[in-house]
Amino acid sequence: MTDRQDIPRPATWLTEAERAWRARVAAVAEKSVAPRAAAMDRAAALAPDLVGELRAAGLMAIHVPERYGGRGGGLFDVIVAIEELAQADPAVAVFVDVQNALVTQALLSHGSGDQKRTHLTALAGGGVGAFALSEELAGSDALALATTARPEGDGFVLDGTKRWITNAAEADLFLVLARVPERGLTAFLVDRRADGLTVGDRTAKMGIRATSTCEVRLDGVHLSRRDVLGAVGRGDVVAVQTLDVGKLGIAAQLVGLAQGALTAAVAHARDRVQFGQPIGAYQGVRFPLARVSAELEAARTQLYSATRLAEHGAGGGELTRAAAVAKYLASEVAERAASLAVETLGGQGYAEAGGVEKLYRDAKVGKIYEGTSNMQFRAIAAHLLRGVPEHTARASHPGDDPDGAAHPGV
Ligand SMILES: Cc1cc2nc3c(=O)[nH]c(=O)nc-3n(C[C@H](O)[C@H](O)[C@H](O)COP(=O)(O)OP(=O)(O)OC[C@H]3O[C@@H](n4cnc5c(N)ncnc54)[C@H](O)[C@@H]3O)c2cc1C
Repeated sequence: MTDRQDIPRPATWLTEAERAWRARVAAVAEKSVAPRAAAMDRAAALAPDLVGELRAAGLMAIHVPERYGGRGGGLFDVIVAIEELAQADPAVAVFVDVQNALVTQALLSHGSGDQKRTHLTALAGGGVGAFALSEELAGSDALALATTARPEGDGFVLDGTKRWITNAAEADLFLVLARVPERGLTAFLVDRRADGLTVGDRTAKMGIRATSTCEVRLDGVHLSRRDVLGAVGRGDVVAVQTLDVGKLGIAAQLVGLAQGALTAAVAHARDRVQFGQPIGAYQGVRFPLARVSAELEAARTQLYSATRLAEHGAGGGELTRAAAVAKYLASEVAERAASLAVETLGGQGYAEAGGVEKLYRDAKVGKIYEGTSNMQFRAIAAHLLRGVPEHTARASHPGDDPDGAAHPGV
């Protein structure tokens, strides 16, 4: 007989500390985020005092160690926080996601002692981070990036233009991927105040409007060797490993979005009376809600399971595959839940004041950023068909990505 104590806990089992943290974030989401979500969407900007409130709640440095001024939590705390915030506003959730799951995560995994002291302390103290990989000709084919880092003296000079950079308007620190001639991709930490760095206008977009998405131009930006994150020529490793966790962050945003949409739809199905009954009494309304609820549970379980894998230090492509599955499932259910919420609320669902049309707009980008759904399939298929070379896409640069398995697909 197996002792019950030997049975591993399910991925959806949270420790007491994790449950308490989730409840704290839910309270912040309800008090500070939800009441402002519609206005921030209309203004296409975050409320000016919101960032300070997020910082005070520990949300801008969730898994930064306490010695650097952070909250000292784990990756699971990051994921749960993004999920909770997304129930109130997916735009605020992605702002917090980029800060924690991308920029902080990259520093924790690849930063030197000095870099951690300087940059994690700054991020915990109110600084905002952005992750700059994509370019005009390097989207899904992210490793085809053309930004160069030319060695000069004891440092480098960066030239190029990054596109679609989330948090760029607010950012103090940019993690920039560039190509060092003959050495390969390299990650750099670039201060916003660096001479030659300019942030373009905000891109007007369909959803997550409160977050900024801008071009970032690097025009002869001088950096020292100390600004290299990880090793020269190993920026692909920094990018791929960071994006694995970044995908979990986006999956958390989408799971939270789906939960918010489902909650709104169920509440309306209980309240709205037609033909003398709450509409939730009719099978045509009940079953689609049940289906989305089942799909949401599957997506959340996969997200938590992949997050636990990351916490246990899984590597060798296991996390890449699990994160791709989580992000794909979450993006599907987010779009379906938001669409169902619009339909369940009827005319009110279509009206701005109903609140769920925003979720429908916010959901769409889940199938695009941090790797389109096809890029998630690519990562999953690379495992299924290991040894069978993929022929639909060539490697961006010979030697970068021989079988597609490591391709980040931002
Ligand atoms: C709101 C927003 C925020 C973003 N934030 C950031 C950020 O903070 N930092 C950052 O670096 N980037 C960011 N991005 C960029 C994002 O990661 C890219 O948009 C994404 O990777 C897709 O690239 P693309 O837009 O060039 O599309 P493309 O790569 O041109 O893809 C177009 C279509 O072609 C398909 N496709 C392409 N290649 C293949 C293939 N080999 N096989 C099958 N299908 C294929 C894709 O799946 C997609 O459907 C952001 C984008 C958006 C919209």
